[in-house]
Amino acid sequence: MTQTSVQTTHYVPADLPTSIRHFIGGEFVDSVGGETFDVLDPVSNQTYATAAAGQQADIDLAVAAAKEAFDNGPWPRMLPRARARVLHRIADAVEAQDARLAELETFDTGLPITQALGQAQRAAENFRFFADLIVAQADDTYKVPGRQINYVNRKPVGVAGLITPWNTPFMLESWKLAPALASGCTVVLKPAEFTPLSASLWAQIFRTAGVPDGVFNLVNGIGEEAGDALVKHPDVPLISFTGETTTGQTIYRNCAANLKGMSMELGGKSPAVVFADADLDAAIDSTLFGVFSLNGERCTASSRILVERSIYDDFCARYAARAQSIVVGDPHDPKTEVGALVHPEHYAKVMSYVEIGKSEGRLLAGGGRPAGLPEGNYVSPTVFADVAPTARIFQEEIFGPVVAITPFETDAEALALANGVKYGLAAYIWTTDLTRAHNFAQSVDAGMVWLNSHNVRDLRTPFGGVKASGLGHEGGYRSIDFYTDSQAVHITL
Ligand code: NAD
Repeated sequence: MTQTSVQTTHYVPADLPTSIRHFIGGEFVDSVGGETFDVLDPVSNQTYATAAAGQQADIDLAVAAAKEAFDNGPWPRMLPRARARVLHRIADAVEAQDARLAELETFDTGLPITQALGQAQRAAENFRFFADLIVAQADDTYKVPGRQINYVNRKPVGVAGLITPWNTPFMLESWKLAPALASGCTVVLKPAEFTPLSASLWAQIFRTAGVPDGVFNLVNGIGEEAGDALVKHPDVPLISFTGETTTGQTIYRNCAANLKGMSMELGGKSPAVVFADADLDAAIDSTLFGVFSLNGERCTASSRILVERSIYDDFCARYAARAQSIVVGDPHDPKTEVGALVHPEHYAKVMSYVEIGKSEGRLLAGGGRPAGLPEGNYVSPTVFADVAPTARIFQEEIFGPVVAITPFETDAEALALANGVKYGLAAYIWTTDLTRAHNFAQSVDAGMVWLNSHNVRDLRTPFGGVKASGLGHEGGYRSIDFYTDSQAVHITL
C-alpha cells in the first residue's frame, strides 16, 4: 500500500544540551551518586544527551527542599492574587518561547512540529487558566441562625509529587504544575525518562517569573527508581500521576502505606461511534484526527471506530484512502502529519500490534514502515477493518497510529461494543439525531464524551476517565480541590 512520506535532512535544534540535570532547591545538580541514563532522539535513535538518573538520595533532597519551602517559605502564604501574577508571568514566558519549546519537544518526542507548537501554547493557557481560577476561588460558609457559623478554610496539602508521561510532556506537566502551584503547594516533578528535555526548561522559566527557590523541584530518572522513591516518600502527601494503567496500579498499591491522595489519568481505548445519519465528511475528518494526530500517542485517541452497517463499506473505503494520503516524515518538517514514535522500545511495541492486526482484521492502509524512511521510528498510519471485539487490537491500548474499525447493526449493539473494553476514557458520537446522541452519551462508559466534535474542551470541565482509565477527575475547581484540604471550622454564636 502506498503512503505519502517526506524525507528531509534531519533537523537538529541549535544549542541542545548534552547533559540534563535535576533542579533542586533552586540549583541545577547531578545525581548524588553520579548515575545517568541516555536520552535518544527518535529520528536517528542516537544518544544526544545524558540525563541525571535520580535515586532515593536525590528524591530525599528534592522533597526536603520542597518541604522547607512549604513549611517556611512565602509561597503557600502569598495572597492568591500574588501567586496568580507569578503564574501569568510563567504563561507569558512560555508564549514568548513557544517556537523554541516546540522545536525541542519535537526533537525529543518525534511529534510533528505544528502539533508541538499547539501543545506549547496550551501549556501557557493552563497557567493562565489556573492563575485566574485561584483569584476567583470562593469557599462555602454556612450559617445556622442564632446558633452557629461554619466555614471552609482551604489549605494547600503540602509537597505534591507529580509524575508524567512522554506523549506530550511539556503540556502534561503544565496540567499538573499550574494547579499545584496555584493552590500553594510546592512540588517535585518526575518527568518521563524517554523525554526529559522540555521539562528542564521549567526551571529557568519559573526562576525568571519569580517562583521562590524550593517551590519547584525536578528529579529526572527511571520510573522504578526515582518515580518509586517519590511515591513512597512519607513527606509527599499526594501523587498526581498520568501514565499507563498498569503503572497506575503499582503506584496505587505503593501509596496505600501512607494513605496518600491520588489522581490517576491512565490509558484508553476510546470508541468513535458513527451512525448512518452522521455528517460523514465531518466524522471521517474527526476520526482521522482522533487517532493519527500526535502520532496516535494520545490518551484520548479514537482508536476503535464503530460504524453502522449500512454505511460501513463506504466509510471504510473513504477512511482508508484518506489514511493513505497522510504525510509521514521528519517531525520538524511543517508538512509532516505523523512523525516518528518516541523511542525504539515503543516503536517495537506498536509494530508488534501491526503484525497481530494482520491476523485479526482486514488491512486497509499502512501495515508497517513507510517507503522512503528506512531509519527512525516511523509507522505508516494503519487501518484494520472487520475487527472482532475479542481481538487484541480491539481490546488493548496500542498508543500509535493504528485503528480498528468494526461494524454494528443496532444502537444497543453499538453501546455494547463501545463499553466492551476495560477502559473508559473518552467516546465520540457521530449522529444528527440529538436524542440518540444524548442517550448514548449518558450510557457510554467514558469520563468524557464528544458529540459531533473532538477533543476541544473548556478547561473548567472535569478531565479524567472511568474503569481502568483513571481515578478522580481534574480540571477547573476539581484540580484545586485535589491540591488543597478543605478544613471545616465551626463556631457557636
Ligand atoms: P508509564 O506508565 O510507562 O510512565 C509514566 C510515568 O510513570 C513516567 O514518568 C515513568 O517514569 C513513571 N513510572 C513508571 N513506573 C513507575 C513506578 N513504579 N513508580 C513511579 N513512577 C513510575 O506511561 P508512559 O508510557 O510514559 O505514557 C503512556 C501512557 O500514558 C498511555 O497509557 C496513555 O494512555 C497514558 N496517558 C494518559 C493520559 C490521561 O490523561 N488519561 C494522558 C497522557 C497519557
